[in-house]
Amino acid sequence: MFERGDDRGPGRPCRRRRLPGLLGGLGVVWAASVGCSGDDGPQECLEAVIFDIDETLTIDDEEWETQKKDGTYDPIAREAAAALVNAYAERGYVVVYLTARAKTWVLGGTGEGSPAATERWLVEHGFPRDPARTRLIMSEMVVPGDAARTYKREALEALLAEGLSLEAAYGNAVTDVGAFEDVMIPKSVTFIIGEFAGSAGTVAIAGESWLPHVEAYVPGVMAACAP
Ligand SMILES: [Mg+2]
Repeated sequence: MFERGDDRGPGRPCRRRRLPGLLGGLGVVWAASVGCSGDDGPQECLEAVIFDIDETLTIDDEEWETQKKDGTYDPIAREAAAALVNAYAERGYVVVYLTARAKTWVLGGTGEGSPAATERWLVEHGFPRDPARTRLIMSEMVVPGDAARTYKREALEALLAEGLSLEAAYGNAVTDVGAFEDVMIPKSVTFIIGEFAGSAGTVAIAGESWLPHVEAYVPGVMAACAP
């Protein structure tokens, strides 16, 4: 089952942020499950789930490498990857796509920029991309190899500094495992697929598909900011 942090008992810190009036419609929905202290109006739930993209939501790192060379190439998504991310979005979590893809890449042939291509791929493959509730975090420059851990840790630290809480994380690489550990995301909600599945005490996702996880685990995930 979905584990809660140790600081979630009575009197736990408020994970919601007051919403401006215009967003009150959605805020009212979230506020309906309010449990944190100090509530006095519509607030935004700041519980987030982190998703790596390459070889986590796609089948292989090479998919992006191929698309970089040929901008018309469409990277293949893992089975049920979109269903996985949508399930968290539907439960009210902030969805964060955290990738070491550099913003500076320009795709071969089409000249499309890396951010636009990544955004387009997410939308075309049915991943949630609501500007108010999803984030796409890309690197300002090329991140070589092991530096991805530091890059991702710093990005996650920035989210924490904003007030988001990191409720679960999905990745495939040793650098993902390291970065998630660096910001103390519990191993029990650190899900790793592929070659390093289960490494360093993470939850192993066996095989190449998200479908078994979506069917067996995700239905038990509680709504974000549930009391
Ligand atoms: Mg990856």
